Amino acid sequence: MPTVIVDGHEVEIGADERLNCIEAARRAGKEIPHYCWHPGLSVVASCRMCLIETGQRDPATGKVSMVPKLVPGCQTPVRDGTVIVTESEAVKESRARVEEALLIDHPIDCPICDKAGECLLQDYHFDHGQAERRADIHAFTSRKREVGPTISLFVDRCIMCTRCVRFTREVSGTGELMVTSRGAKEEIDVFPGFPLDNKLAGNVVDLCPVGALGDKDFLYQQRVWFLKREANVCGGCSAGCSIHTEHNQDTVYRLKPRENPHVNTWWICDEGRYGWHHLHDSSRILAAGRRPTGHSHGNGNAAAFQPVEWADVVTGLRADLEQAGRLTVAVSPMLTVEEAWMLCGVARSIDPEAFLALGHVPIRGGDESFPGGFTIRGEKCPNRKGVEEVLAVFGAGGRTWNDLLAHVASGHADAAWITAGYPAAWTDEATAEAFAGLPCLVVQDLFDSPLTAHATWQLPAVGFAERAGTWINVAHHAQSFRQAIRPPAGVWPEGRLYWNMLGRRGLYDPVAVRRQLAESSPAFAALGGDMPETGVDLRVRQLA
Ligand code: SF4
Repeated sequence: MPTVIVDGHEVEIGADERLNCIEAARRAGKEIPHYCWHPGLSVVASCRMCLIETGQRDPATGKVSMVPKLVPGCQTPVRDGTVIVTESEAVKESRARVEEALLIDHPIDCPICDKAGECLLQDYHFDHGQAERRADIHAFTSRKREVGPTISLFVDRCIMCTRCVRFTREVSGTGELMVTSRGAKEEIDVFPGFPLDNKLAGNVVDLCPVGALGDKDFLYQQRVWFLKREANVCGGCSAGCSIHTEHNQDTVYRLKPRENPHVNTWWICDEGRYGWHHLHDSSRILAAGRRPTGHSHGNGNAAAFQPVEWADVVTGLRADLEQAGRLTVAVSPMLTVEEAWMLCGVARSIDPEAFLALGHVPIRGGDESFPGGFTIRGEKCPNRKGVEEVLAVFGAGGRTWNDLLAHVASGHADAAWITAGYPAAWTDEATAEAFAGLPCLVVQDLFDSPLTAHATWQLPAVGFAERAGTWINVAHHAQSFRQAIRPPAGVWPEGRLYWNMLGRRGLYDPVAVRRQLAESSPAFAALGGDMPETGVDLRVRQLA
């Protein structure tokens, strides 16, 4: 195996790996500071923060010959015998000079800067800078430039790393950003009339190592040190991008991409990034309700739902469905596989012949791919694959929402339980009419819909950050995640209701359900052990 020597410690790298000094040093647990380098972008070696000493060890004699000057770690590839020195006096001096130069032109406005607390300029200055300023502080302009509908540029704070410019050229392929002027006067800007407005634009805020690019959605909402973060999965489309949900006191403040080489690399789309506001929408359904027995519904004069305590939902819902007769269940692709599996189990315990089918799959346009390899899926739900696999376990594989509508229309159903949980309007009056004559209709959703008028039971659903479990994306990649925030008071996550309806004791435990599912179905066998944060590829595991 090729070996690299980092500050005297030998680390092995793969024979085919193409690593630079920053990446090789990380293998040895050494972080080489850098601003302009990013693994998802081209190398420009412009910030000079990653200057280090390197050399080469002779394999025959073991003698090391060093390069007589500092070199940029981002631009210097390693090979067998490469020697990296990250902590010499020359390296430390170089870092201190780079920090000093940057801070001459950077306002110390940390108290009003969104980036404070997660700013590389702050962190590197503490780690590598010097305590005293040798140059006079000059006046800053505090110019703010609206470079796009979602992003502001705080011009003085920019350190000209050009990560943002390269992103728009290499990843989004939209090229809105550029460097204007030269030398000490250079600035980031957009071309007149062409704002930074593309479907991946928010990523430049994550890329900016300082507070120059601000996300208007998050600006001045929270200090970052108040935020807690949970590894989640975006529910916006069937790509299932890995994200961090950042929240405080059960309120989500922002979503950030979570690096996952198997799914989304370093990026997320803006639709996913800002797709959390519905969680805090005041029009959400917040309580379980049932229309009084004998009251007609579906004619526009339906009686109001009477609130029902959850303990009574568990027994009353089962009783109503058993009494109604032939049951039909739509299993929403917004549910996790654990929830879907329990729901199917509940349905079959009520009616062993229950007709199970995949719920509505929202589609908007086609898949959209970008030059950097990122793809936004047209299928706007995270777990169609997972629900399809669950349905196959129950002998209902391949059944779709349209099959369910046809089943109901042909008079083969007495009761229907429609699970939904979509963040936006998803059905219409005509579709809802199909359920108008049913003796019992259960609708479990985030918001009122045309189905509400015909419902006997209305049950709240939860959003992506309020549930726990596993989603399987369009490429059969399974990712498990924990609940980030609690749902609004009075709302039970779907899994908790199904867990109780199955008569299971204690608190709902998605991990226990997942293990049980893995043991009972070969299709889910790979979900049995501890799941890595980046998930598992179910197809690969099955073939192995
Ligand atoms: S705005 Fe941020 S990402 Fe862009 S060049 Fe300046 S410091 Fe770098």
